[in-house]
Amino acid sequence: MYRTHTCGELTIRNTGIDVTLCGWVQKSRDLGGMTFVDLRDRYGLTQLVFNMETDAALCGQARKLGREFVVRATGRVRERSNKNLKIPTGEIEIEVNEFSILNSSELPPFTIEEETDGGEELRMKYRYLDLRRTPVKNNIILRYRVAREVRKYMDSIDFIEVETPILIKSTPEGARDFVVPSRLQPGTFYALPQSPQTLKQLLMVSGFDRYFQIVRCFRDEDLRADRQPEFTQIDCEMSFVERDDILDTFEGLAKYLFRQIRNIDFTEPFRRLSYQEAIESYGTDKPDLRFGMRINDITVIAKGHGFSVFDTAEYIGAICAGGCSDYTRKQIDELTEFVKRPQIGAKGLIYIRYDADGLLKSSVDKFYNQVDLGVLASRINAVKGDLMLVIAGEKMKTLTALSELRLEIGNRQKLRNKEIFAPLWVVDFPLLEWDKEEKRYFAMHHPFTSPRPEDIPLMETDPGRVRANAYDLVINGVEIGGGSIRIHDTSLQRLMFKVLGFTEEEANAQFGFLLNAFRYGAPPHGGIAFGFDRWVAMFGGQDSIRDFIAFPKNNSGRDMMLDTPAPISEKQLGELKIEIKKEEKRD
Ligand code: ASP
Repeated sequence: MYRTHTCGELTIRNTGIDVTLCGWVQKSRDLGGMTFVDLRDRYGLTQLVFNMETDAALCGQARKLGREFVVRATGRVRERSNKNLKIPTGEIEIEVNEFSILNSSELPPFTIEEETDGGEELRMKYRYLDLRRTPVKNNIILRYRVAREVRKYMDSIDFIEVETPILIKSTPEGARDFVVPSRLQPGTFYALPQSPQTLKQLLMVSGFDRYFQIVRCFRDEDLRADRQPEFTQIDCEMSFVERDDILDTFEGLAKYLFRQIRNIDFTEPFRRLSYQEAIESYGTDKPDLRFGMRINDITVIAKGHGFSVFDTAEYIGAICAGGCSDYTRKQIDELTEFVKRPQIGAKGLIYIRYDADGLLKSSVDKFYNQVDLGVLASRINAVKGDLMLVIAGEKMKTLTALSELRLEIGNRQKLRNKEIFAPLWVVDFPLLEWDKEEKRYFAMHHPFTSPRPEDIPLMETDPGRVRANAYDLVINGVEIGGGSIRIHDTSLQRLMFKVLGFTEEEANAQFGFLLNAFRYGAPPHGGIAFGFDRWVAMFGGQDSIRDFIAFPKNNSGRDMMLDTPAPISEKQLGELKIEIKKEEKRD
């Protein structure tokens, strides 16, 4: 070993002992006759001290050390006069009597300290340097700890981790697949799994009744913020279970992780909301329950006062921003602009202030007198000091706009504290979603999701109304996981494919392996998958998953460090029998 200790472990208790440390030079300072060097490794920082008076030659060498040089230093631990109580090693320093440079370093392109002067692009290009920074390093360590705790818990309840292949078959449902050309069978392609969905179901047919896997998934999507083309799931499946067995099992996992990772004990069961309730009350299927501010349907009582915007609207909804009656004209204008942005698309925003003195003032005073406004206020559960905000229009669009407005007020009022966690299960999702453009139903979750048994008769008569035996775990407005009880019966699976518009031949060509397997004794089963990167980021108190992945891709799916995707050689293309179409040049 090059070293006797790490840079994070020596404290005042070790004074007087002789040690050898290795690490990177974070910073050095020359002060009069002394040179101080902060030596960093994965475990922390230790101050080295060189004294001109006692060893001028050594001190002279130390003065030549550049940032990020790799150094080995031997010396005695002593108490520091100028203590830094913020770090565990801050009470001691090493009085160096011997050191060697293990490697030199060019000047790094950005400062490698907690805060850096490197922009995102630079940091990603030199990610290996970025990973030396404490906050990023700690995120990667947190990720490891969460993975370890997941494995511990799953093991303790008899789940086993089974690996599934990365080269699989492309399927038309879901997102776009990444594909890999085959050299041995030119003209054919593997696909990278969007998730091991069908494979874990096959493992259930094989009798592995409790499966999990921390697994990489790949989706070739246009990248919205905070998405990665490759990401990690905690993928799980169980046999001989009903929905509540799955929710209970994985609520157990969630509670265990919160306790181990964040020291938070959830003693109560997680709330459960139906999809319908979530949409009606929060305008979204992933409500942030860190704060109330539910949406109120005031369609019936707000109509009939001669205000045409309301009178002609399909739906009128309101939220009550508690204690916000003192919002200024400017603040309300900002909120109006916010809901009118094209992404949200509301036509306008109406406000009713409930002043502290009990007076109600609104932007629709022409149509509503004090009594009318009082009726609305009591329906919205507003009290003195509150601000009511109303949006009218087409129902789903209006609910979505109110949901965004609710989150915006939540942000402004600082109701979305990252230290607080509000988990819930959303259940009873619709099985199918109608696609207006393609004029056909799509599976809202995936085609293997079981309908609620009592809704099966509707599959052929009124598919849009069929509820799925599906659920999501939502925490703080973020979907952390989702899953379903699966179809395990060949004929129901065939019916599902039919409703989704697959011909018998298409269904067999794409999913014959699964339909065949179901003929050999498929147990009732169901499962769930969690977005591992996102959950870790949430435990780390951050929104972006990128800094919880050692080597992530940027917003356009590029790895800036590896500089890829990149062309491959003519020879490789030839072996694959692939010809690249030249982009037509436009001048
Ligand atoms: N495979 C599903 C997904 O990736 C999750 C599940 O149903 O288990 O969304």
